[in-house]
Amino acid sequence: MSSSKGYLEMAKTAVSINANTFQFFTRNPRGGAAKPIDENDIKEFLSYSKEHGIDKILAHAPYTLNACAADPGIREFAKNTMADDIRRMEYTPGQMYNFHPGSHVKQGAEVGIDLISKQLNEVMYPEMTTIILLETMSGKGSEVGRNFEEIRAIIDRTELGDRLGVCLDTCHVYDAGYDVVGDLDGVLDEFDKIIGIDRLKAIHINDSKNPFESHKDRHEKIGDGYIGEEAFSRIINHPSLRDLPFYLETPNELDGYQKEIEILRGLYK
Ligand code: FE
Ligand code: FE
Ligand code: ZN
Repeated sequence: MSSSKGYLEMAKTAVSINANTFQFFTRNPRGGAAKPIDENDIKEFLSYSKEHGIDKILAHAPYTLNACAADPGIREFAKNTMADDIRRMEYTPGQMYNFHPGSHVKQGAEVGIDLISKQLNEVMYPEMTTIILLETMSGKGSEVGRNFEEIRAIIDRTELGDRLGVCLDTCHVYDAGYDVVGDLDGVLDEFDKIIGIDRLKAIHINDSKNPFESHKDRHEKIGDGYIGEEAFSRIINHPSLRDLPFYLETPNELDGYQKEIEILRGLYK
């Protein structure tokens, strides 16, 4: 959803399709200014969500945000956007803010990782209550975050690294070459060894239009792609994952999401 709707309206929309959490863009996914915070809307949202059992929400940074761009102007835009988003997040304390680490565009992953950590060091501050999530990427183009090691390296170089978590996107990791269909335990063991399973805070639950290791990143409806319903049943019921918040980013309108939530609730033991 987009925050141009207002927090209360987003929560009501989520409840109307039997969801108990939602993800929203802090501003237009392609960038631009965010709508001013309406404190009355926030107040109503906080009491409505409490009443309806929504305790976690996930904000998503715009796709255009690239903390490791080669162009300093693009990096400056990324920094200012993230700083503003983090400031706005404090109106809903203790929530999560997810971003794509970025694309290093020919500078190499090493430089990319340094630039991303540098930006995080510039915008994070000790009193913030928001957890910032790094999203696992599919490795298309020059994306940083295409493997667990790169995510780990960003965390290690960030001063307030204890405030960083990870959002695992099932389509992205499958496309990146982590076999969540054939060897979910193995993938999660590796995640634990390299990053630490405690860092895993949210799941983007998407099927993939492309086969394993395709490095493509094209989401498919649940059950219609290469991951498939059986694998999703194992994913949502896995002891390390089952209590995490799950977010659909499948190509759907609201009624499609409602159906998928119903399917997933049916598979959830
Ligand atoms: Fe994303
Ligand atoms: Fe995602
Ligand atoms: Zn994606």
